[in-house]
Amino acid sequence: MSANPQSMTIRRPGNAQPSASGTASKPFWVEMLLEGGDGEMTAMRAHFDPGAISHWHSHPRGQFLYVLSGLGRAQRDGGRVETLRSGDAIWFASGEKHWHGAAEDSPFSYLSIQPREDGRFVDWMEAVKG
Ligand code: MN
Repeated sequence: MSANPQSMTIRRPGNAQPSASGTASKPFWVEMLLEGGDGEMTAMRAHFDPGAISHWHSHPRGQFLYVLSGLGRAQRDGGRVETLRSGDAIWFASGEKHWHGAAEDSPFSYLSIQPREDGRFVDWMEAVKG
């Protein structure tokens, strides 16, 4: 973790890394765009292959998600599975348990912004049961 840059910075695409194990049904690609120090926002672009979905998780200060391409799915705990399309903007509240990922037959990419608090911006939970 490091503080965000103190002056204008351009991040070019092409630095995606596979997601950590234990975070999704199949690894997805994560490209950090802002690392975010404590109390700052982090930002990333994520890409899921068809059928890949995250495990249940929450974000300590919430998450804003903007769909870039493809067809996705998301669900909050107790809610129904929602379809996500290019251009959709989704907000998950602080601590709200949810998952998101690709539709069964389409890749899915999004940009997300989530503040860091106490060193972390996501709390991972169990896998989603089919
Ligand atoms: Mn999330």
